[in-house]
Amino acid sequence: MSLQPAKTCASETHGSIPIADYKALFPASEPIRDFSPPFEGNIREKWSEAANDNGFTITARVKDRLHVLLKCHTCGSEHRKRISVVLGHTPECPHCISIQRISDARAVGARLLGRDLRNRHYGHYRLECGHQARRQFHRVNKAAHGGHDLGCEACREQRYTAQARKWGWELIGPANNMKAGYRLYRHACGQLQDIAVVNAMWGDCACKQCSHGRTAKPSWIYIFRIDLPEETVLKLGYSVRPEKRLKHQLGLSKATTAEVIRVVKMPTGFDARLEEERAHRTIAEHHPDLIVPKAEFGEAINTQGEIYRKRAEPLIHSLLDAIEHRFPPKTP
Ligand SMILES: [Zn+2]
Ligand SMILES: [Zn+2]
Ligand SMILES: [Zn+2]
Repeated sequence: MSLQPAKTCASETHGSIPIADYKALFPASEPIRDFSPPFEGNIREKWSEAANDNGFTITARVKDRLHVLLKCHTCGSEHRKRISVVLGHTPECPHCISIQRISDARAVGARLLGRDLRNRHYGHYRLECGHQARRQFHRVNKAAHGGHDLGCEACREQRYTAQARKWGWELIGPANNMKAGYRLYRHACGQLQDIAVVNAMWGDCACKQCSHGRTAKPSWIYIFRIDLPEETVLKLGYSVRPEKRLKHQLGLSKATTAEVIRVVKMPTGFDARLEEERAHRTIAEHHPDLIVPKAEFGEAINTQGEIYRKRAEPLIHSLLDAIEHRFPPKTP
């Protein structure tokens, strides 16, 4: 890889200068020397004046009758330039430009890896997070001076992926509808559909497949109280028929007393599942001590989890209050 040469002499610089040289040089102490072959001839007064006006000294004629060597007054480095550029344009020092770009990158925690070979306005960077990205030089310069970071698409996509996963959606790639802000996701059931990123992040989306099947019917989020011989526990879950679930599906022994202590009606099983999962997650994140491990209740209740201590009751009620608030019961 090489650095982007000065704008006015894209075809004039001494080819690629390895980034490593610049890194060694920055902060600059050793000026870079140019080793173009000398060319016999006088340096005209007019050329020297023009060079001087732009911050350079012509130190030699090199390569052929068309070129001179310029020494930059700012960084002290040399580079070869066409005489016509010295006379007719505003020559720029490629080394100063490179130093500027490297320092801009550093200011935002990135590393300039080299220039983009297809577009001279772009460079390749290693960002602070470790990802590699292509960025416009002037944008990096703006970021460096504005004090903000460069942002990273790869990290952003990872965030989107992790968030959507919480709601049972896998981020697959660009959206089929090509709409901005949308991506293609796959639901846990296998359904593929375009969803707005912001909705997938908050679980604010219904799976077209799931919401047309059984889960499209109204459902209930429930709290059961189950009096096990050692301890009274609670079960939080959802079901189309909570009573039936409690009496026939939990495998409770005849001696065990249990009752439904609260139900919240949900418009669909899909919503019920999302809300129920959210509630479990809240408890697991903030009150893991309220969870009764499977090892404790064992075969007494035919479920893998979702069993809580009796003292979790006020918390679970408040979670259900919040759900009820989001899905207010429809008045007939
Ligand atoms: Zn310079
Ligand atoms: Zn990143
Ligand atoms: Zn689905």
